[in-house]
Amino acid sequence: MFITLEGIEGAGKSSAIPILAAFCEARGFAVIRTREPGGGLLGEALRSIFLNPELTLDAQAELLLLYAGRRDHWLNRIQPALAEGKIVLCDRYEDSTYAYQSGGRGFPRERIAELARWAGITQAPDLTFWFDLSPELGAARIRARKADRLEQEHTAFFTRARTVFAERQAAEPERILRIDAAVPIDEVHVALLEALAPRLQR
Ligand code: C5P
Repeated sequence: MFITLEGIEGAGKSSAIPILAAFCEARGFAVIRTREPGGGLLGEALRSIFLNPELTLDAQAELLLLYAGRRDHWLNRIQPALAEGKIVLCDRYEDSTYAYQSGGRGFPRERIAELARWAGITQAPDLTFWFDLSPELGAARIRARKADRLEQEHTAFFTRARTVFAERQAAEPERILRIDAAVPIDEVHVALLEALAPRLQR
């Protein structure tokens, strides 16, 4: 089962991964935890490019890198784990690409779909948790952390990204479950596990 976690900066995805992993493992599932950008040698190298404040990539160059990383990640990490019956927990995946590069940066979404097909990324996650919160609250939560390139940009960027997450959730309500990420973290985790439990088949 392929599970992804999505949301804008400060939504709390990363801290939820160990909670979800422990829940699945306690029910007898083998789990791998991964992330995008990241999830392997190529992906982690690309991640350091993404987080470098001195690099100003245009959206098209950014997308080509993201899909090079995603193809490698899918072929060498995600697909083999799924084939072995494991649960794959992935922090960000393709919904982030639509939210950030299309919503945030204005790249046409049809061209992202074209690139995804070209890269052979045709299998959607089985389940996606969309951690929804306002860009203002997200910014307040990350203020203490080291700022990356996008975190220096305007709230408007994340407002557009959030709108795209909302549109995708409305279009695919079975796959994408909205989690209210504005409530205290313990409550977020309870909501997540309540949503996950009925979806774990064994
Ligand atoms: O998941 P996390 O927030 O740690 O992702 C690291 C960074 O990668 C994001 O903050 C964002 O700056 C960048 N990113 C991006 N486009 C994506 C996914 C991530 O610009 N599609």
